[in-house]
Amino acid sequence: YIQIKKINMFYSKLGLTTIKENPSDAEIISHQLMLRAGLIRKLSAGLYTWMPIGLRVLRKVENIVREEMNNAGAQEILMPAVQPSSLWEESGRWNEYGSLLLRIKDRHNRDYCFGPTHEEVITDIARKELRSHKQLPLNFYQIQTKFRDEIRPRFGVMRAREFLMKDAYSFHLDQDSLEQGYNLMHKTYSKAFERMGLEFRVVDADSGEIGGNRSQEFHVIADSGEDAIAYCDEENYAANIELTPTLKSQTKTIKSKQRKEKKHTPNTKDIASLCKLLKVEPKDTVKTLLLKGEKKPIAVVLRGDHQLNIIKAAKISGISLPVTMADEKEIKKSTGYDFGYIGPIDLGLKIYYDHAVSEMPSLICGANEKDYHFVDANFSDDLGNPDTIDLRNAEVGDPSPNGKGKLSIARGIEVGHIFQLGTKYSQALKASVQDDSGKDVPLSMGCYGIGISRIVAAAIEQNHDESGIIWPENIAPFKVIIIPINMHKSKKVETAASDLYEFLKNQNIEVLFDDRKIRPGIQFADAELIGIPIRIVISEKGITNNQIEFRSRISQDSEMLSREEVIKRIIS
Ligand code: ATP
Ligand code: MG
Repeated sequence: YIQIKKINMFYSKLGLTTIKENPSDAEIISHQLMLRAGLIRKLSAGLYTWMPIGLRVLRKVENIVREEMNNAGAQEILMPAVQPSSLWEESGRWNEYGSLLLRIKDRHNRDYCFGPTHEEVITDIARKELRSHKQLPLNFYQIQTKFRDEIRPRFGVMRAREFLMKDAYSFHLDQDSLEQGYNLMHKTYSKAFERMGLEFRVVDADSGEIGGNRSQEFHVIADSGEDAIAYCDEENYAANIELTPTLKSQTKTIKSKQRKEKKHTPNTKDIASLCKLLKVEPKDTVKTLLLKGEKKPIAVVLRGDHQLNIIKAAKISGISLPVTMADEKEIKKSTGYDFGYIGPIDLGLKIYYDHAVSEMPSLICGANEKDYHFVDANFSDDLGNPDTIDLRNAEVGDPSPNGKGKLSIARGIEVGHIFQLGTKYSQALKASVQDDSGKDVPLSMGCYGIGISRIVAAAIEQNHDESGIIWPENIAPFKVIIIPINMHKSKKVETAASDLYEFLKNQNIEVLFDDRKIRPGIQFADAELIGIPIRIVISEKGITNNQIEFRSRISQDSEMLSREEVIKRIIS
């Protein structure tokens, strides 16, 4: 792989322009800093060029992942980015994968896609190459560009359309071996993220359209993360909120003695305006959402302050996938009622209730009549005491699914995902091996992804201050930046700086030499923005006193040291 050491690195040759102001289209800090520090440049929506410094970081991340995969005995391969539709038809995903899949045609009008992932291609390899259980277990991986036509590419390389992924696929004779391979990847990922200096959490996850059984995600903890993670340290529980169950309360609800009453509530199509008018809290109300169903819409009823969990809703039988709200027209057509005042009483559609609704002493709901709501309705008397299911997102303070502690919630950036696929792809594509009795058995498979390019952004989300990026040492583009002050005016400064630069370079230290003829203030600001861990400043005055300034990006402490001491600190 790319040799990043012992090459000359002069700032003036980087073609780098840093930007002082925050670019207006960058919403999160890592995107702002990546643009400001010149790590990436945008070509078009979700498409980015990696500029020299950015690419060095990307390669560092890539190489840590590669080393850890190699340590785990996985074999690196490289599959084509472009894949024929026929394979995707065999797995059934040509239709299933939807608009994320970039479909392309060749000159013969044949269908291809730009690979968003490679389960089909690797399974094709396996069915052609593997014959006997004696060849197993095996793990193949690649580090390669993927394309997903994301509906909302955003946050720069965090959610891009073209991005770099490490994807690995393991093959086993049976579930036991698959579990071993899966656990090994779990360890390998943890090791890789630790080496990158990232604070992360492993959480139980939904398997999404990849399919299969067990799956876990690796999340870098950051406030800007798109995912919510529910965890309970007391019980060692952590799961993506998508998957976190909410429990039915064991304590009996004491129902209110009031009787249901219809109230005139003009202009209260949403919960906020209803609560304002009735002087109640959202938790006193219920919302009735109509989701598109295969035939008619399906109603789900949740407490007004709770959030519908889409993954849980997707498991309702007869629901249309992906889960979508019915629109006003459909609502009118299937119920005859007006949007905004829909409620469960006499709705005339199949209704699913969330557990929490049954725990409300009384409830406020739409009366299925424009400008009217019921107040003091009762779950057993007015709704008929129906069965309830788990439909909502877990919230802070909910009991942990294991029953003892309480849940906390953090935001995370998904940087890795490991799956036990089982035989989903091997059965669809007929990839089998002979076991020791000579019988054909479908291969058990695991798949394991790491978002290499997303990690660069995630690392910045976790490591920055108001002046710029603070790279964890193992993924920093350079270890040291040397800033000679007014070098063009002082031969002494130039000689001292060049000597130190050559010396460090020959010691295999990655060092950037700021040879620009500009004001020191700009040099300092750029060094902080780019986030190089160690800054060395060489000035005329310092040299005269045999001293060099040493400054750590993390601690921000400057010290005047001898050349020997500086070298010792850098090399240690
Ligand atoms: P997400 O939920 O963020 O859309 P995913 O679950 O669809 O991701 P996987 O199929 O698990 O993604 O892909 C493996 C890894 O690739 C993810 O864990 C993530 O780090 C990275 N990744 C996925 N989509 C993108 C993207 N659009 N841009 C950058 N990295 C991505
Ligand atoms: Mg994923």
